[in-house]
Amino acid sequence: MGFIVAIDGPAGSGKGTVTSILAKKLKLNSIDTGAMYRCVTLQMIRENVSLDDIEKVKEILEKIDIELIKENDNLIVKLNGEDVSKEIRENPVNKMVSNVSAIKEVRLKLVDLQRKMAETQDIIMEGRDITTVVFPNADVKIYMDADLEERAKRRFKQNQEKNIECTYEEVLEDMRKRDENDRNKEFGALKIADDAIIVDSTNMSQDEVVKKIAKIIKNQKKTKKLEPEIYKIRPETKWKIVERKIVKWFLRTLYKIFYRVKVSGEENKAKAAEQGGYIICANHVNMLDAVAIVVFSKETIIFVGKHDLGRIPILRWLEHLFDVIPIKRNQQDMEAMKRCLKTIKDGKALAIFPEGTRKGLEKNAKVKNGAAYMAIKSGCPVVPVGISGSFKLFTRFNIKYGEPIDMSKYKVKGIDKTKEKELQDQATKEIMDAVVMLTK
Ligand code: C5P
Repeated sequence: MGFIVAIDGPAGSGKGTVTSILAKKLKLNSIDTGAMYRCVTLQMIRENVSLDDIEKVKEILEKIDIELIKENDNLIVKLNGEDVSKEIRENPVNKMVSNVSAIKEVRLKLVDLQRKMAETQDIIMEGRDITTVVFPNADVKIYMDADLEERAKRRFKQNQEKNIECTYEEVLEDMRKRDENDRNKEFGALKIADDAIIVDSTNMSQDEVVKKIAKIIKNQKKTKKLEPEIYKIRPETKWKIVERKIVKWFLRTLYKIFYRVKVSGEENKAKAAEQGGYIICANHVNMLDAVAIVVFSKETIIFVGKHDLGRIPILRWLEHLFDVIPIKRNQQDMEAMKRCLKTIKDGKALAIFPEGTRKGLEKNAKVKNGAAYMAIKSGCPVVPVGISGSFKLFTRFNIKYGEPIDMSKYKVKGIDKTKEKELQDQATKEIMDAVVMLTK
């Protein structure tokens, strides 16, 4: 599988144009999946096949041949060998394509074709379900958006340039309907993936959008190249232990010079450790809080950190020194999960920020269930930690450990996935309530 950039968004959000520019700039092969659904629609119109005649639809799908060819920056779309680039953008297709794309058989066939296209090349693919269904594990996931009126204006202008006859009102109405259909269809509905980066281009120039997404792609490419290095585990040698002690002492001294750090409730860690491994859950205020928890603790604390931090050499060195577990956010990172569970099993302290991002509670970010999941699975207690302070130089900040929380009550055997998730949500809430109390 090559490097995959997935872009979703409603009609007219600019994803088509931006995708072609990015493809050229970053040497990726662009794939306009909308054009593929349009080809199937056109063939159905030509053969006079109605939406509910599934057998005929299947026949069309079996023999259809769609080619997307780049020629001097223009996309040439060929349907069974014939250039249909203009015809697939005209009104009859516009009116029907959303309904055609809701047919399960059509989706299965086209999703399969789209996945095959990424087997041998680096691609940038745009559509409605690329980040959620076609490539849920894409290297980069972008959701492009813009206000309806702005999108209709852009599409109207494009149509005029391509000599496609229509009025602005027609375009606006068509888009409104397609938005509604695309968001509510049973299969392949337009949704924002949890881990997609949202780019709203309503008030941005095309150039700004391209620059923003290009930067995201370049960073991710760099991270992917470095992944073996980021995930490497540094063996626990004598020198590593000494180095860790020196770095801990050095960082503690710096903290003492520039801040007044007050640590309280440390005995709660010892209490939790009586049972073996445990999980520390803290709120995340500033980059400095994770480091402070580690360097002001006598015990070894193994943090979980977002894996792209390891792109920066000094952070990567620190992460390896302190055995930080790199984790890919918002996706199932099994490698990271295994390392976390092993850390607890080995009787160590694992530290997590359930908010997943800095000041997540303030930003209303969805608190992650990972810590609760692991505590319930391994049966270990959770020590809540409240971090408070402004993190301005020479001011005080507090690290306050709370009573360990027993998670065994959330472990119930023989329940289904929905109930299991409900219990994890409850456990997460209990943890975060305790954390918030400790910040006051
Ligand atoms: O992107 P474009 O507007 O050309 O797409 C035409 C239609 O094809 C969309 O309105 C949507 O209904 C459908 N589509 C889809 N899934 C995709 C791409 C397009 O359902 N991945």
